Amino acid sequence: MKISIIGTGYVGLVQGACFADSGNSVICMDIDEKKIANLKRGIIPIYEPGLEELVKRNVQDGKLEFSTNLRSTVQHGKVIFLCLPTPQSEDGSADLSHVLRVSEQMADLFNEDKIIVSKSTVPVGTVDRVRQIMRKKTDHEVDVVSNPEFLKEGAAVQDSLKPDRIVIGTRNKRVMTVMTELYAPFVRTGNPILMMDERSAELTKYASNAFLATKISFMNELANLCEKTGADIDMVRKGMGTDQRIGQQFLFAGVGYGGSCFPKDVKALIKTSQENDFELRILRSVDEVNERQKKVLVRKVQKYFDGQLKEKVIAVWGLAFKPQTDDMRDASSVEVINGLLELGCKIKAHDPIALSRAKSIFGNRVEYFDRNYDALKGADALLVITEWNEFRRPDFVKMKALMKRQVIFDGRNIYEPKEVRDQGFEYFGIGRGSIK
Ligand code: NAD
Repeated sequence: MKISIIGTGYVGLVQGACFADSGNSVICMDIDEKKIANLKRGIIPIYEPGLEELVKRNVQDGKLEFSTNLRSTVQHGKVIFLCLPTPQSEDGSADLSHVLRVSEQMADLFNEDKIIVSKSTVPVGTVDRVRQIMRKKTDHEVDVVSNPEFLKEGAAVQDSLKPDRIVIGTRNKRVMTVMTELYAPFVRTGNPILMMDERSAELTKYASNAFLATKISFMNELANLCEKTGADIDMVRKGMGTDQRIGQQFLFAGVGYGGSCFPKDVKALIKTSQENDFELRILRSVDEVNERQKKVLVRKVQKYFDGQLKEKVIAVWGLAFKPQTDDMRDASSVEVINGLLELGCKIKAHDPIALSRAKSIFGNRVEYFDRNYDALKGADALLVITEWNEFRRPDFVKMKALMKRQVIFDGRNIYEPKEVRDQGFEYFGIGRGSIK
């Protein structure tokens, strides 16, 4: 099948490469000329395990091409995927300007009947709005489908090749057949392709992200109670998670959720509810708890140093919003580092792969280190903000010798408090009240 992808970011590039790998002819288009020029030279703009090989192999096989030309891209594909950004607007709603503008532009360019698929996360009713644009502007038969994306950054290729489920929002039987054929190679193990109406599909994506965010904020709120009562959230987590009705995942307390999806999607869903005269009260709290949680480490550091933070050297391990990605959009590290800089701290930062993104955010306000131990030299404290595996079993003896003051603020609870304290460090985790 001929496939066109508009928007070659995390979703578009990964999905385009996976469709090419399953035998389709794919063009990935983007307005970012530098990104496309780099992709044509084999330079992958994002870090995702397995992506580079996948892209290179399919480019070599002639199944995957890159372009900045909307016309030729639109005319290539029978199925056109919109993988465009839907960032947060000032009022919290999803900014649909990219999706609607590209839809208007595309409508003038069709050479045959098309299926347009929205992979972008869009509020309920967006597919209908795109369909109206098509009805007004083109005589070709153009159907518009909601097909939300559920990939996780850091495991995006794996998730796309073996998704838990595919959600397709359409009531058109012909489109159902085409979409089922397209996704068949990815669901050989029997995972379902769920057909539903467009609006339910659009809402399913927000519901999934909002529920996961709710789990995180719930645990963060309990973590604060643990600190007040002397309980340890990690014990509580294990006790809860072993109940199969609850499950082990997304129960980790920390410095709040970040990334390009959860914060904006929770806010957009709250906005959708308000626009429909309904108050999603749980989600408002989820959002508030998260905003507060992003500040928790700075408050702990402030308390520890009695507010005397001027010229204190703080080492930071982990900048990406989660491990296995270089994405720093809405990362908790940004809030923490900016908070500490404002209080007069000097920051020495390390991340296994997000340093170049960090440089574009903090510039020369932060010192950057390629190796984690180098960031510790002369540090008054270490803050762990992203739970990269390489931080989990460090050489505490070496760390102790490098640091000026032996204190660790563990924003992701990756260490055993007793073990760290036995090594001669002061240890502060999140919600770990019981072990002093
Ligand atoms: P991204 O910012 O990584 O990529 C979007 C791309 O679209 C960029 O390369 C940008 O240059 C390009 N673009 C912008 N305007 C364009 C235009 N007019 N024509 C062509 N290209 C244009 O975004 P992303 O993370 O891939 O997210 C895309 C959508 O998918 C969003 O709605 C997001 O919420 C959703 N989503 C993201 C993830 C994720 O983990 N990143 C997961 C599921 C769903």
